[in-house]
Parts: sequence; structure tokens; C-alpha cells
Amino acid sequence: MDFAIPSHLVDTLAAVDRLLAERIIPAEAAVLEQGFVKAAPLLGDLRAAVQAAGLWGPQIPKDAGGMGLGLVDHALISERIGRSPLGHYAFGCQAPDAGNLEVLHKWGTPEQKARWMAPLARGEIRSCFSMTEPENAGSNPTLLSCTATLDGDHWVVDGHKWFTTGADGAAFAIVMAVTNPEATPHARASMIIVPTDTPGFELVRNIPIMGDAGGGWASHGEIRYHGCRVPKANLLGPQGAGFLIAQERLGPGRIHHCMRWIGICERTFQLMCQRAVSREIAPDKTLASRQIIQAWIAEARAEIDAARLMTLSAAWTIESQGFQAARDQVSLIKFYVADVMMRLIDRAIQVHGALGVTSDTLLAHYYVHERGARIYDGPDEVHKMVVAKRLLAQYGKGGA
Ligand SMILES: Cc1cc2nc3c(=O)[nH]c(=O)nc-3n(C[C@H](O)[C@H](O)[C@H](O)COP(=O)(O)OP(=O)(O)OC[C@H]3O[C@@H](n4cnc5c(N)ncnc54)[C@H](O)[C@@H]3O)c2cc1C
Repeated sequence: MDFAIPSHLVDTLAAVDRLLAERIIPAEAAVLEQGFVKAAPLLGDLRAAVQAAGLWGPQIPKDAGGMGLGLVDHALISERIGRSPLGHYAFGCQAPDAGNLEVLHKWGTPEQKARWMAPLARGEIRSCFSMTEPENAGSNPTLLSCTATLDGDHWVVDGHKWFTTGADGAAFAIVMAVTNPEATPHARASMIIVPTDTPGFELVRNIPIMGDAGGGWASHGEIRYHGCRVPKANLLGPQGAGFLIAQERLGPGRIHHCMRWIGICERTFQLMCQRAVSREIAPDKTLASRQIIQAWIAEARAEIDAARLMTLSAAWTIESQGFQAARDQVSLIKFYVADVMMRLIDRAIQVHGALGVTSDTLLAHYYVHERGARIYDGPDEVHKMVVAKRLLAQYGKGGA
């Protein structure tokens, strides 16, 4: 087993590190203070620098203008750019556009690819994914009630969604809607492309996340679809295949999230260590001299390394054997890495004392905006239950 960085990636990763250090990290304070809408010109400059360096869209297929990297290679880039809250956006691999692009690439018609995927891949437009509904438990999406009915040559979409990330300013939404109400639960829904300028598309609000409603890509929209009429040709993939496609999208998506979270862990770890060695708590004694802090540092290092290896191993299994072979690994990393990240952020805040709860470091931003990690793409409890059931099934039927 070889744990070395693949030789074909060494120069690429060095170039990524340089861009992060020279351009992206120095822009963080301005972007986070101004917000993603006001800071659009600065973000545009960062994206241009990434494109000029040939590092745009690590996961975007080559035929769509990206680097066309496999999952393990992308994961290695993702952990690096995840060290900045601007990283994934600057490199053109931010959720939910990355997943939407993947779906369009695999399932889109030539017309859908030309109209939606190509400009998305170039970073000219953004998109969103609209599945979760306030009235129904998102952890069981077969309960969804948004409908799309055929009326002549059009689908008419009616529904109420929320937590549609990045809806503010997006050019189109991929909407999960019930098209086949009589079918079995997993065959009832389809994906439909709804341009956000369709009459009846209402962005009700950007939902405040612990007080911060954000804006642009960095926001989560509540949306009402009031009889949105879109051409029949906006069906994405086969009718009734919504859940199948969503499932395919989630596997690699969870690897992307986990590696981004590892990046956040590394940044948080760095902040925690820097504070520990610099904060004097007695004459000639810093926090780093205290055993409880030393234990936190050592535990954090072990947990980050474990989380990273588990995630890379899951990525490798998906790449070499397919998603089915990796489904337990993917569930394990989804709750484990999110938990490692949140505990680490909390401890780093503790080490910083009052400074930790201010916006003078990145920690408060992470605390607010990464808490959702334990909820989206399957809450912790659901992943634990799914894995445990499969493990217990090997010992008998008592766990069913
Ligand atoms: C930051 C963020 C971004 C998001 N982005 C998007 C997006 O872009 N598009 C989109 O469509 N949705 C998005 N979501 C929504 C997300 O997919 C849902 O929040 C998630 O599926 C959980 O659904 P819910 O919130 O309705 O919780 P519920 O289904 O109501 O569950 C509530 C809690 O109950 C517990 N629970 C649920 N099921 C079980 C079970 N079987 N056993 C034990 N306990 C259980 C869990 O603790 C869970 O957190 C986002 C959410 C967040 C927080």
C-alpha cells in the first residue's frame, strides 16, 4: 500500500498551495466581511487567477473544460482548498454546482448540456438543487409533496422548498418533484430543470443560519414554485429516476464534503496550535505548556489523520469498485468526519477563549456555517442506523 501523493499530482498540489497562500487566504477577510454578493468582483479575480493557473474545475470533465480528475485526485485537492472558506468557490468545485454538473454531464440531453452545463462549467452561471421541504422530513425524501404534472408540452411545477443552497442568484434549479404518484416510493419523483426566471418561481427569503442569512452562493433559499411551467424537454434523466440520480450524486458528493471538512480541520488545528503556543497564561508559560491542551492537540491530530485516511479509502473504493462497494464506508465517513470537525472547532474556540467567539478568527464562521454538516446529505443518525443494520445483519436478523 502506497500512501504517497501520486507523482502526477505533486506539481498541481504545489500550485494549489501557492494560489491559496498568495491570493485566496489573503482575500478571506474582505469577502467574509462584504458577503458573496458585494465581493463578486474580488471573487471573479480569484477565479480568473485559478483559471490562468490551469487549475479550474478539478472534478469537471475535460470535455466540459475542467481538469477531469478522478475522485481520489480531486479529494487530495479538495482537502487543500478546503482550508479556505473561499477555496471551493474559487476553484469552481463548490456544492451544489459540482453535483448538478455531474448529473447534467451524465444524464443531460445535448440541448440541456449546451444551455445549462456548459456555462455552469465555465463559472458563468450558478445553479441550485431543490429537494427538501419544510413540511416533510428531509431525511426521508420519499415523503416529498412537490408535484410536476404534464400539461400539453409543459411540466407544471407546484411546491414549497427550503434549504435550496445558493438559490439566490442562481440561473436554474434542479427540482425534485413527484411526477408518478402511483409508482413505488422510490420511483415517484423526477428531476426537472426550472430556470429561476420562470414565472411563478419565488425566492421567499434567504434563511438566516444562526442569524446570518448570507447572500448569493453563500445562502440557503426558501422557494415557492407557483405553477412554474417549463418545457417537457426540461426533464433531466428518465421520468421516475429522481431518487436513482440523487443517490448517484450523493456518493461522490459526500467524499467532496468530507475532504473539504478535512481542510477545515487542518486550518482549525493550525489556529489552535498557533494560539496555544502564543497565549501566555502565566509568566513564561503559554497554554501549550498545559497537559489538557496538549491532550487536545494530540487527540485532534489522531482524529484528523483517521478521518482523512477513511475518506481517501472510501474515495479509492468508489473509484476502483463502484459506489455500491463503498456505501458503508461513505456512511461511516459522513458522520465521523463531520463529528471530528465540529468537536475540533469547539475545542479550538475554547483554546481561543473570548476571541474564539468573535468574528476576528475564522472559528465562529465555521461554528455557524459548518454545523449543518451533521444534518445535510443524511443526518448522522440515519447513516449510523443504516450501517449498523447492515453490520448486524451479518450476525442474524435481530437488528432489523
Ligand atoms: C446547510 C444546509 C444546506 C442544505 N442544502 C440543501 C440543498 O441544497 N438542497 C436541498 O434540497 N436540501 C438541502 N438541505 C436540507 C437537508 O438535506 C435536510 O436538512 C436533511 O435531509 C434533513 O432533513 P430535515 O432537515 O427535514 O430533518 P428531519 O428529517 O426532520 O430530521 C430531523 C432529525 O431527526 C433525526 N432523524 C431523522 N431520521 C431519523 C431516523 N430514521 N432515526 C433516528 N433519527 C432520525 C436526525 O437527528 C435529524 O437531524 C440543507 C441543509 C442544511 C443544514
